[in-house]
Amino acid sequence: MKPAPKTLAGRIFLTFAAIQVALLLLGVGYGERRLRQFHSDQIERRLGTAAELLTGAATEVLTRVDDDAPFPPLLTSVDGSKLRVTLIAADGEVRFDNVSKPPIANHGQRPEVVQARQEGEGAAFRTSATTSIATLYVARRIDFADGGHGFLRVGTAVETVQREFSLVASGLLLGLAAALFLGLLGTAFVSRWLARPLESIQVRAAELAQGDLEGKVRVRGPVEVRRIANSLNRMAKELRARIELVERDRRETSAIHASMSEGVVAVDPDERVLLMNDAAARLLGLPRPLEVGSELWREVRFPDLELALRGALAGAPEWHGDAPSPAVENRILALSATRVEPDVGAVALLYDVTELRRLDKVRIDFVANVSHEMRTPLTAVLGAIETLEDPATTKEEATRFLDIARRNAVRMQAIVADLLELSRIESEGDRIPMEKIPLENPVRSAMRALSGTAEAKGVALDYADPPHRPFLITGNEKRLEQVFTNLIENAIKYTPAGGSVRVRYLEGGSAVTVEVADSGIGMPSESLPRIFERFYRVDKSRSREMGGTGLGLAIVKHCVRAHNGRVSVRSEEGTGTTFSVTLPIDGNGGEEQGRARESTREQGRGR
Ligand code: ADP
Repeated sequence: MKPAPKTLAGRIFLTFAAIQVALLLLGVGYGERRLRQFHSDQIERRLGTAAELLTGAATEVLTRVDDDAPFPPLLTSVDGSKLRVTLIAADGEVRFDNVSKPPIANHGQRPEVVQARQEGEGAAFRTSATTSIATLYVARRIDFADGGHGFLRVGTAVETVQREFSLVASGLLLGLAAALFLGLLGTAFVSRWLARPLESIQVRAAELAQGDLEGKVRVRGPVEVRRIANSLNRMAKELRARIELVERDRRETSAIHASMSEGVVAVDPDERVLLMNDAAARLLGLPRPLEVGSELWREVRFPDLELALRGALAGAPEWHGDAPSPAVENRILALSATRVEPDVGAVALLYDVTELRRLDKVRIDFVANVSHEMRTPLTAVLGAIETLEDPATTKEEATRFLDIARRNAVRMQAIVADLLELSRIESEGDRIPMEKIPLENPVRSAMRALSGTAEAKGVALDYADPPHRPFLITGNEKRLEQVFTNLIENAIKYTPAGGSVRVRYLEGGSAVTVEVADSGIGMPSESLPRIFERFYRVDKSRSREMGGTGLGLAIVKHCVRAHNGRVSVRSEEGTGTTFSVTLPIDGNGGEEQGRARESTREQGRGR
C-alpha cells in the first residue's frame, strides 16, 4: 500500500477529497433511490389511469358468459408494445391478454394479483414469465355487482422506463462528477493556499537553523500563519542583534587581548587552553596562539608556568614570581597565576621583565658606581687637607697637596657636571627643543673646539664636508655638538701621537651617518657591548689619568636616542675605533637637499 503523503498540502487535499467523494457517493445513492421511486410512482400512476379507463371493458369481458364473443375494441386496440393488458378471473385464469396468446399459465399467484386480491390494488416489478421482459405491473381488483370479482392488470415494459431513468441519472451523475471535479480543484487550491505559507516558513526556519539570519520570510495566507512568519522574522532579527552584540564583545575582547603586551593564558580545570593571546604565544615561543581546547602542556614546556597554573587550579592563593623564559635564553618573565571562580579554571599573566630587571640592576650599580667614583677623589682631597693641616708640612709639600686637592675636586666637579647633564638629557626625553639645522654645524663646532687639543697631541684631524650640502635635520644643535665633541675628544684621547682622526658623512636613504674613525688603541670586542654604560671604562686607571668620567658615551647614547637616531661602534685593538651616529634626514630638508644637490651638480658642470 502506498503510504499516506507526508506534506501538509497532500494531507489536506486527501482528507477533503475523501470527504467529498463520500458525500457524493451518499448523495448519488440517495438521489438514485429517490429518482427511481419517483419514476415508478409516475409509471404506476400512468398505469392506474390506464386501468381506470379500461375497467368498464374489463368488467364486460370478465362477467360475460359467451367466451367466444369478440373483445371490445377498447381492449384490442391497446398497443401491446407499450401497454400490456391482462384480464384475470378470480381463480387466476387469464381471460384476455393483448400480448400473449392462450394457453397462458394461471396468474392467481402473481404478486400484484395476490396484493390486489387483498388490498384492491397491487403493483410488482419483475421479468415477465410470459414475455420474458422486465415489466412493471399494476393489478386492480374489479368487484362485480353479483358479488364476484376479477382482476385487471396493466403492465409496461420497464426497458423504456429504465432508458428514461438512465438518461436522467446519467445527467445527474455528469453534474455530480463536474461538481466533484470543481470541489477537488477547490480543495487543491485551498490546501495549497494553507500549506504554501507554511512551507515558506519551514524553509526559512531551516535556513535559520543553518545560521542564515539575513533573510526574511514574507507569506500570504491565513492570519495565524502570517503571525508565525512575523514571529520568525522578529526572532531572526533579535537573534541577529544578539549575535552581533556577542560578536562585537568578542571582537573587542580579542582586540584587547591581541594588543596587550602581557601574555594571557587561561586554562580550564582539565588544563586545556581557554584563551591565549598573541603576546603569550610569543613569550612562550609558539608560532601562533594555541587553539581553544588544546592541551597546553603538549605544546609548551615551561615548568614554572605549569606549577603556577596547577597551584592556582588547586586553589592556592595568587602566585607571583620571575622565571627564565622558555623561548629565549637570558630573558626573564614575570609570572602570576590566579584561579578563576566559579570553577572556570585559572589564568596566568606573563610579562617580559628582562629590561626592567636590567634597569633595576643598572640603577643599583649606578648608585654603587657613583659612590665608588666619588670616593677616590674625595679620599684624595681629604688626605690632602689632613696633610695641609699638619704644621710639619713644608711649603713645597703644601703646594703639591693643594694641587692634588684641586685636581681631585675638578675631577669630582666633572663627574657631577656630567651626571647632571645626563640626568637633564634623560628628563628632557622627547621634549628636547628641536629645530631644522644643517648637520654640519654641530660637527664643525666640535671640530673647531678640539682642533687645538689634537694639534697639541700630534693627532691629525681629517674632516670632509658632506657631498651635498646642507644636510638638514631636525635637532638640537647644542646637544648634537655635545655628541660630536665627546666622540672626537675620545678619538683624540685614545689615539697616540702621530695617529689620525677622520670625520666624514655617509648618506643612505632617509638617514645620514656621521662617522668618527680613529687609528688609536681600539677596544677588546668583549667591551664593545658595555661602553655606552655609565662609568664603564675599558681601562679605568688610564681613563682617569686622562680625566675621563666614564659618562661621555652614556651622554652620546641618550642624546642620539632623543633625536630618534642610533649610535654604533666598530673597533679592533691596536687598529682603531669607528663610532657611527645615524640620524633621520628631515622630510622637507630632503626636498631642499634635493634642490641643493641639483645646484651642486650644475656648479660642477659649470666648472
Ligand atoms: P671616558 O670619560 O672614560 O672617556 P666615555 O664614556 O667617553 O668615558 O668612554 C667609555 C670608555 O670607552 C672609555 O673609558 C674608553 O675605554 C672607551 N673608549 C671610548 N672611546 C674610545 C676610542 N675612540 N678608542 C678607544 N677606546 C674608547
